[in-house]
Amino acid sequence: MTARRLAEQTRTAIEELVRDGAPSRAIARRLGVNRSTVAAVRSGMGLPPQRSARRTFPTLVAAFRGRTEPAGAGHLRWTGRIAQGVPVFWHRRQQYSAYRVAFTLRTGRPPDGPVKPECGQRQCVEPTHVDDTATRQRDRAMLAALLGRPEPAERCAQGHDRAVHGRLLPDGRPYCNACARGQREARP
Ligand SMILES: [Zn+2]
Ligand SMILES: [Zn+2]
Repeated sequence: MTARRLAEQTRTAIEELVRDGAPSRAIARRLGVNRSTVAAVRSGMGLPPQRSARRTFPTLVAAFRGRTEPAGAGHLRWTGRIAQGVPVFWHRRQQYSAYRVAFTLRTGRPPDGPVKPECGQRQCVEPTHVDDTATRQRDRAMLAALLGRPEPAERCAQGHDRAVHGRLLPDGRPYCNACARGQREARP
C-alpha cells in the first residue's frame, strides 16, 4: 500500500467520524493521528473549530433520542451513523451501538448476545422492537412449546452439540448455528 493511499483512507475515516460528531481527541486516539491532523481535515470540510460545531447532549438517552425519528407503524428510524450495518453514535468520548442502548432503555439490563430489531424493519431502534439473543431464543422456545414441537436432537447431523450450537428460527423450528455459519462462509 502506498503512503498516499493510506493517507486518503485516514482522511476518509476522519471525515466519517467528524460527520458523526466524534470529539477530535477521540478521533485522534482511535486512528493514531495528531489532533492537528483532525483539525486540518475539519477545516478542509469547511467546518468551524470543534467547540462551536459540536452537538452535545446532556445524557446518553438524549444522545440516542436526538438521532431518531418516528418511522410510522411504531418503528423508530435511526438518523445517525451506520457502521457495518449497525446504528452507532458517540457520547462523552465513547461509541455506542444504538441497538444495545435501545435494549437497555427498555429492560434496564445489559444485553446478552447481539441485539437486533425483531420487527422486520431494517435498522429500527424502537426499544420495544429490539431483543438480545437470549430473549430472542427464549421467546422462540416458548413458541415451539406452544406449538407442541418435539425437542430437537442432542446433536445435529454433523455432530454439533445442541446445547452449544442449537438455535430456533422465528417460527420455533430448530436449526444448528455451527452448520448455518459453515454454509454462510462456504457461499461465494
Ligand atoms: Zn420496528
Ligand atoms: Zn451442525
